[in-house]
Amino acid sequence: MKISELLKKQMTFSFEVFPPKKDKPMEPLTETLNELARFKPDYISCTYGAGGTNVGRSKETCKAIMDVGRNVMTHFTCIGSSREEATKKIGEYKEMGVDNVMALRGDLPEGWKDTQGYFLHADRLIAHIKDKFPDICIGAACYPEKHISAVSKEADIAHLRSKQDNGAEFFMTQLCYDAQEYERFREKLKKAGVTVPVIVGIMPVLFKDGLIRMTLSNGCSIPSDLADIIGKYGDDPDDFKKAGKEYTIKLMYKYMNMGIDGIHIYSLNKYKDLAEIINDSGIRGVF
Ligand code: FAD
Repeated sequence: MKISELLKKQMTFSFEVFPPKKDKPMEPLTETLNELARFKPDYISCTYGAGGTNVGRSKETCKAIMDVGRNVMTHFTCIGSSREEATKKIGEYKEMGVDNVMALRGDLPEGWKDTQGYFLHADRLIAHIKDKFPDICIGAACYPEKHISAVSKEADIAHLRSKQDNGAEFFMTQLCYDAQEYERFREKLKKAGVTVPVIVGIMPVLFKDGLIRMTLSNGCSIPSDLADIIGKYGDDPDDFKKAGKEYTIKLMYKYMNMGIDGIHIYSLNKYKDLAEIINDSGIRGVF
């Protein structure tokens, strides 16, 4: 089912997983998917390696998501891809029954100046998918605190408008712990004529080092209440996780109270901590 159709009816609730490496077994992920499926997410998305590395495992993961009875979205990156390759690969997903594609450029590998493929940016990939597969629902990435390499917030938002104009039916955000920053971003989107739904991506606060690495590498800020948790509990992984789970639940409610269109949880392929967060939050019943 198309995510755009779901978004017309409700605030969506979903998870992201990533495929296991080629030489690793599928079983741990299958177990995670079985557990995540109990929360009846509206869909589960599967990430895609920039440059299409590990595409076999990405497809296996999409199939495993469908096998646990959930709707699926694949991510797709256009780094190094010709038009023909993109058409072929997306066609293969379509044949498997995947109706939703998150269309991305992908992170440029170290030392690359551009994608070394036909599509230099996601907006052109989106136009191509829309042309070749008008039935596919296309999502696109957005960055409330600006994409790390964008020259300005305004320029970044202008490119989002171009993704919408080329066929993106919804946006999904990069992690953003600062809900006020998101609110400002939302106002700017409105002014720029971006009207499609925006789904907020939530990275649960579980591990100090991972949190710092992810925020820094993506140019995202750490608001003072989160910095307090790092300061107080940073040396104790258990206490940090406990405080981080409470923080994550509060953040989810902050966003929901703002009337957002959907919540997408970056599961990091872990379900035990995530199940506790979702159960404690009460937003999806208790399992
Ligand atoms: P673009 O939209 O092309 O933007 C990249 C930069 O170029 C931005 O600074 C933008 O302002 C600028 N720009 C955009 N359009 C133009 C234009 N027409 N002319 C000039 N400049 C332009 N990465 C993966 O490898 N695999 C994944 O599965 C994956 N999933 C993601 C899911 C989400 C929700 C998000 C937010 C990110 C994800 N990423 C993933 C990371 C993403 O690939 C990187 O952030 C990448 O650097 C940018 O991708 P994009 O699609 O936003 O690119």
